[in-house]
Amino acid sequence: MKLTRLRLIGFKSFVEPSELVIEPGLTGVVGPNGCGKSNLVEALRWAMGESSYKALRASEMNDVIFAGSGNRPSRNSAEVVVVLDNRSRLAPSPFTDVEDLEISRRIDRDKGSTYRVNGREVRAKDVQLLFADASTGARSPALVRQGQIGEIINARPEARRRVLEEAAGIAGLHARRHEAELKLRAAEQNLLRVEDVLSRIG
Ligand code: ATP
Repeated sequence: MKLTRLRLIGFKSFVEPSELVIEPGLTGVVGPNGCGKSNLVEALRWAMGESSYKALRASEMNDVIFAGSGNRPSRNSAEVVVVLDNRSRLAPSPFTDVEDLEISRRIDRDKGSTYRVNGREVRAKDVQLLFADASTGARSPALVRQGQIGEIINARPEARRRVLEEAAGIAGLHARRHEAELKLRAAEQNLLRVEDVLSRIG
């Protein structure tokens, strides 16, 4: 799946609805200091399910909403839409057969975020897994932050293994395993309770 479009409405400095078309090949974003280049990459990471406001240089999640500037009033919501080309049909069910996958995240001030895939409301976890299975995501080494190369070189072996696992697209399996383990533990608890009740009846 390839990233083909990024749409922003009210995200950080992007108060006007803005759409970036990402053509095949190398794309460069150039502009003076403070014009919003990093905000663009953060918009992408936010839509991929970034849950840490600190990782977005914010002091709370509401800070990603346009805060006003000069004579422009602040907004009460922000939305980022990521469009992926799914001609490879790698999208998970029930989206496997769609041409384009539109993943959106919207935040309403003090009300938190909602995620949608092609208009259907989904959980943050579904969006995170979708990108993890495609070997990318908000924390993926596919998106290189300033200073990250040095961090990887100096990282401990376990941390370096996580980077390799994410690059190999198996990070989603760890999340699913964790979820399965939680379900198993809940089922074991239920079984214990059933046995308890049965022994009392017997
Ligand atoms: P540099 O080249 O210096 O790294 P940059 O092009 O990457 O800069 P960003 O860091 O993406 O620029 O953008 C910073 C700008 O975004 C600042 O002017 C800041 O005021 C603005 N900004 C950040 N959050 C918001 C917000 N919530 N509302 C309005 N403007 C914001």
